[in-house]
Amino acid sequence: MALYVYKFGGTSVGTVERIKAVAEKVKKSHDAGDQIVVVVSAMSGETNRLVGLAKEMQPQPTDRELDVLLSTGEQVTIALLSMALHQLGCEARSYTGAQVRILTDSAHTKARIREIDEANMRADLDAGRVVVVAGFQGVDERGDITTLGRGGSDTTGVALAAALKADECHIYTDVDGVYTTDPRVVPKARRLDRITFEEMLEMASLGSKVLQIRSVEFAGKYNVKLRVLSSFMEGNGTLITYEESEMERALISGIAFNRDEAKLTLTGVPDLPGVASKILGPIAAENIEVDMIVQNISANGTTDFTFTVNRNDFARAQNVLEGLRADLGGNTAIISDSSIVKVSIVGVGMRSHAGIASTMFKVLADEGINIQMISTSEIKISVVVDEKYLELAVRALHKAFGLDQD
Ligand code: ASP
Ligand code: MG
Repeated sequence: MALYVYKFGGTSVGTVERIKAVAEKVKKSHDAGDQIVVVVSAMSGETNRLVGLAKEMQPQPTDRELDVLLSTGEQVTIALLSMALHQLGCEARSYTGAQVRILTDSAHTKARIREIDEANMRADLDAGRVVVVAGFQGVDERGDITTLGRGGSDTTGVALAAALKADECHIYTDVDGVYTTDPRVVPKARRLDRITFEEMLEMASLGSKVLQIRSVEFAGKYNVKLRVLSSFMEGNGTLITYEESEMERALISGIAFNRDEAKLTLTGVPDLPGVASKILGPIAAENIEVDMIVQNISANGTTDFTFTVNRNDFARAQNVLEGLRADLGGNTAIISDSSIVKVSIVGVGMRSHAGIASTMFKVLADEGINIQMISTSEIKISVVVDEKYLELAVRALHKAFGLDQD
């Protein structure tokens, strides 16, 4: 007998028919003798609808009231799914986050889970019942409802799996797994049978939005075996797990990209101690997240300082730099470009192989693509290129690193 946590996303419970189909699937596993905890999202579009309603009431609703409102979406689906299971003759019981007692901190709209009381769930499982839990929500010490941030049901699923020491956590979604890259850009993209936590984190943070990043971090930390599968198709999906050293694996597991980048350069900056913090301090104070940073070596006592930010923050970052120029002295100028993208190759295989970077740069050069910035980590190499080359770059790299399916 195995214990599984199944998480179903919004599209998987988007209609009455789909909720019935989920119930069938859950019942099948339950009948086969497994213990099942199901975590559900709100019906697709519901959370956005609720956010819209709130905005109609008040331009800036308080986070506490937003959480009270947003948590209702998942309360609807747990009740409906439990009813669908009852209708199939399968015993089931629904729980909101507060009822389980998923204790969180009080950071409304982005709360973090502190502790999970498994007693209720355990009792139901032992009595042969399916447990249905509302994703995305918890309760703080005061008893106030909290939510875990958009996409937070994934984290609920993983956290319950960790607390219950489940054999696996299945994330059922509308894609059948994690792909080598976005199939809309590369039709020859392949589904991966396995990917490591580290690689998945890189892919997710680079814009492959299959899972909430926090859920992957959580799964890595508590060693929860995480599997991404389709709720509509049969198949084994993609298993996210620890690296197995003996495993024969590809050098590169995937090509990720991010279209939301913008680049700012400050030229003619005096090359003195404290300059980087003089530039990035005020940027951080504006709550603007900086991604890549490059400072050139100095010539004639001045240097260029370049960094990238999210395109949404581009105008604000430009304003901050304008305000800084007088302060920095020298003869500074701002060069900015919001039509760039970041393309990255990701793979733990990189650790043990030299020459991956030069292969990547050669592939791009052969396509006539100019590289504007480069950054590397142990398992990732990222380049910034003009956005018009995005598709070309991703396809060329996908092919060159042997990821195309035949
Ligand atoms: N319903 C929430 C959202 O749309 C949580 C989730 O689906 O994971 O963000
Ligand atoms: Mg989701």
